[in-house]
Amino acid sequence: MARSFDIPPIYRSSSISSLKQIRSENDHLKKDFQPSLLVAGKVHFRLARHFGFCFGVENAIERVYKALRENPDKRIFLLSEMIHNPHVNDDLKKRGIKFIHSTDGSPLLSLDLLQPDDIVIIPAFGTTLEMIQRLEEKKVNLQSYNTTCPFVERVWKRSVKLGSLGYTVLIHGHSCHEETKATFSHAKSAANALILHDKKEAHLLAGFMRRMAKIPKQKEESLTKSQQDNLKRLKEDFFSSFKGRYSQGFCLEKDLSKIGVVNQTTILASETRSISSYLASVMIELYGAKRFREHFADTRDTLCYATLENQLSVQSLLEGQGDLAVIVGGYNSSNTFHLAEILQKKIPVYCIKDADEIQNRRKIHHLDLQTKKLRCTNDWLPDKADETVILISAGASCPDSLVEEVVNRIAELYGEKSPFQDFIFASSVR
Ligand code: SF4
Repeated sequence: MARSFDIPPIYRSSSISSLKQIRSENDHLKKDFQPSLLVAGKVHFRLARHFGFCFGVENAIERVYKALRENPDKRIFLLSEMIHNPHVNDDLKKRGIKFIHSTDGSPLLSLDLLQPDDIVIIPAFGTTLEMIQRLEEKKVNLQSYNTTCPFVERVWKRSVKLGSLGYTVLIHGHSCHEETKATFSHAKSAANALILHDKKEAHLLAGFMRRMAKIPKQKEESLTKSQQDNLKRLKEDFFSSFKGRYSQGFCLEKDLSKIGVVNQTTILASETRSISSYLASVMIELYGAKRFREHFADTRDTLCYATLENQLSVQSLLEGQGDLAVIVGGYNSSNTFHLAEILQKKIPVYCIKDADEIQNRRKIHHLDLQTKKLRCTNDWLPDKADETVILISAGASCPDSLVEEVVNRIAELYGEKSPFQDFIFASSVR
């Protein structure tokens, strides 16, 4: 049975909890990714099978509120946003928790302010070894309420293991994201590491691997002048292409020949898989099918279950009807953005932080997925004679209460009552 967490009721929705419970009872093995159908007159909402708080987020929320309850007289700090949701972070600030860094890593408070009696909470996506060391020097209480997600720690352990076996760790992630910075820090403690942003960069890397493979494996001084020139150019190109994203001492001659791929747990799982299988094929091309396992580690088990389930559920939404999609989540939430990214290939998608972004039937404020800036769109809801179908999902850091408010707000714009009372399942009506 899945562990249940003590989460403040403001983040729960009793309707969505019941709906999720029924879905889970009917699908113990989590094989059914069909959406749930909620009907409000002529508006039909197709709600993703899996969305909202994941294990790691619920665990983090439980611990941080516990810290507040158990330490009314102590100063409590969060290293940065605990999860990427403004509602949760604002509530914690109101309750007196102070944030040391902003999401981009810039300091909001000096570490010099910290005293041994203070509690410092590490967020769900963890932190770097360098930061842990600095905090340990301050002798603050770090361990009692550490909220680092065990699935993120699993990636770190896997990276260290890869390093001990002589593999270079390739991290598929956003180099500015706290989790990727943390994974890079843990990986480079035991291995050489490199951050890849996307599939395009995997192709770029493969180009360097192929160029490297053409240079004879011998001491640089014994290469011909033209081979030495090629190697020099190759190194310059590589280090400028991946500037700031490789570990110190990264050596092209050695570190491109034995690799393993891990990822930022909230990134597009399908893209990590695609990068991984592409690089595996490059290693087969360079070293042959028989020897490729010596050069490429199998790291499929580092993908986070929640990210994968949410992404598969959204993929399944696209298999049926839909006029538009609304994705609820923080604007700096990477996993929310990727859900929207999957859907936007087929239909208009509005990524919103909460129901307040829905101004009226004509106007909505939302995140523009191309520019990643906030914008306002007019005439976002269609005026159809027949039914309007709206696809709904939410990021792993989004409270269910916000999703319920969004659905109810849209129903209200059509003059309908909340559809949560009499939901039926799409799997039975498709
Ligand atoms: S998305 Fe996965 S890795 Fe990230 S906090 Fe949630 S469960 Fe943990």
